[in-house]
Amino acid sequence: NTDFTERIQRVEPSATIAISNLASELEADGVDVVDLSVGEPDFPTPEPIVDAAKDAMDAGHTGYAPSNGIPALRSAIADSLGERGLSYDPAEIMVTPGGKQALFEVVQTLVEDGSEVVLLDPAWVSYEAMVKIAGGSLERVDLTPHDFQLEPALPELAETVSAETDLMIVNSPSNPSGAVFSEAALDGVRDLAVEHDVTVIADEMYDRITYGVEQTSLGTLDGMAERTVTVNGFSKAYSMTGWRLGYFAAPSDLVDQADKLQSHSVTCATNFVQHAGVAALTECEEYVTEMRDAFAERRDMLVDLFDDHGVDVPVGDGAFYMMVPVADDDQQWCENALSEAHVATVPGSAFGTPGYARLSYAASTERLQEGVERLANNGYL
Ligand code: PLP
Repeated sequence: NTDFTERIQRVEPSATIAISNLASELEADGVDVVDLSVGEPDFPTPEPIVDAAKDAMDAGHTGYAPSNGIPALRSAIADSLGERGLSYDPAEIMVTPGGKQALFEVVQTLVEDGSEVVLLDPAWVSYEAMVKIAGGSLERVDLTPHDFQLEPALPELAETVSAETDLMIVNSPSNPSGAVFSEAALDGVRDLAVEHDVTVIADEMYDRITYGVEQTSLGTLDGMAERTVTVNGFSKAYSMTGWRLGYFAAPSDLVDQADKLQSHSVTCATNFVQHAGVAALTECEEYVTEMRDAFAERRDMLVDLFDDHGVDVPVGDGAFYMMVPVADDDQQWCENALSEAHVATVPGSAFGTPGYARLSYAASTERLQEGVERLANNGYL
């Protein structure tokens, strides 16, 4: 349709849509689908957060908030980032309705026609769409041959990042592979970013969900504070996906520019949700630990189950996803696995890495066992 902008037509419908439509059709027909496709914790939002939201509503925090976020939340975020070794002033923090909106605003602020953006594959599905909408072009480095790990001084990365590069997006722990990049690997990113004067978005959405390894924040490395945009949110660590609360932290000139987008579009993140965010950061440590321990158990169980069926899955040390090697035509494999075994997964090609299916283990152990059993019984493993 010529009435639609060229900009919006640059973006393909998501490869995951076929799967979720098919899953909905099956469920509408009464089929019990084991849904391992969704990227959200199966835990309720911790009670102190829900209580804080109710209290905030009762106290009348139901109007517009400052566009960059309420001071109490920006200050709690600055403290929380401080505990991770990141030094940000509350003025360098922008509270957004979800981490996705934070990424969208940052990409709109930094990427324009002709900008070059480097991604590490497999990469979270929305980066590509955001960059294309902004007019940028993508250069992709495939980490699949390295079991999804970013190895220190990876030659392919050094060959890709150049004086032409404007932005890199680094997501550790990674959705979809669960890989947590080592400090040595991130030092390599730093060296290239500094050498070629590249800004880096560090998407650290899963930084609280790691198993036995410490996640290094890119912005803590020498020379990175001034060129890093740290993106994070509440969806995953605090099981708050539907609340829509996230943020980014960056040098204040970038925050001020992005604030134009925020204030001219969504205005602000929901006022009482921001008050609940303060409770998340200050009162919920034990809930985060409990959920993380549960994810760790499920991950180990799932790896053993696949191993029992002779499937060797590269295991990541963070987030709650794994990439399972499947058929070359992963889209078809996922559609068939759903229609025949009634197990929903996401094709790896959606993340730039065909031949894999992404499974989320943010589901109960019973459902995970059931899922693997169904795949095995229907000849998918
Ligand atoms: N970044 C990554 C890597 C994600 O996996 C997600 C959610 O799936 C997001 C950002 C955005 O999360 P939200 O908008 O819910 O904060």
